[in-house]
Amino acid sequence: MPDRYQTMLLFGAPGAGKGTQGKILGQIPGFFHLSCGDVFRSIDINSELGRTFREYSSRGELVPDEVTVKMWAQNIRAQTILSIYKPHDDLLILDGIPRSVAQAELMDEYINVLEVIHLVCSDKEKMIERLQRRALKENRADDAKEEVIRRRWEVYERETHPVLDYYPKSIIREVDAIGSPAKVLEHVLMAVVPVQETHFHNTLA
Ligand code: AMP
Repeated sequence: MPDRYQTMLLFGAPGAGKGTQGKILGQIPGFFHLSCGDVFRSIDINSELGRTFREYSSRGELVPDEVTVKMWAQNIRAQTILSIYKPHDDLLILDGIPRSVAQAELMDEYINVLEVIHLVCSDKEKMIERLQRRALKENRADDAKEEVIRRRWEVYERETHPVLDYYPKSIIREVDAIGSPAKVLEHVLMAVVPVQETHFHNTLA
């Protein structure tokens, strides 16, 4: 197992399309996508951690940092042991973590961040509409209520946005998040493919 996982972060406000882009990239050989929110949602809601997740996410707030990073580290380790994620072959695409500077610090032990794709959305109301549409489709309680979505935005601006200053400017790529998933993907790939090719050599994957 390498010392630290070679990683790219998908970064952006709620509704910016991190999950959509991450899922597409995760289908391509040489990339492994992991969404922190999906990991939380997969936990048994009757377990202690499941209840903690529900308590915070239903208010649009972040689960405490230490609990989150511990859960994330256990999950990625399990995926590695099961060879679902192969650190020597795959660039790790993280979406939804780190979501605070404290998480970024804790995660330095596990990940080497090669690039941060910042999905920039200038139109907040458009993002809120996107989230409401998704909530209906995916039955997500946290995004069904407008007040919870607005709270998620406040939390993003206060706690998550500062994470951008934690990493060197030279590794941050800004991509316009407004547009069709295919258009956004075109720009995400332009940023990501060179990084993946530089660090991995799985041409026959
Ligand atoms: P997401 O699917 O990424 O929008 O996450 C849904 C909810 O899960 C968030 O509103 C938080 O309550 C929780 N969550 C996901 N990722 C994190 C994280 N890195 N730190 C703390 N809470 C998180």
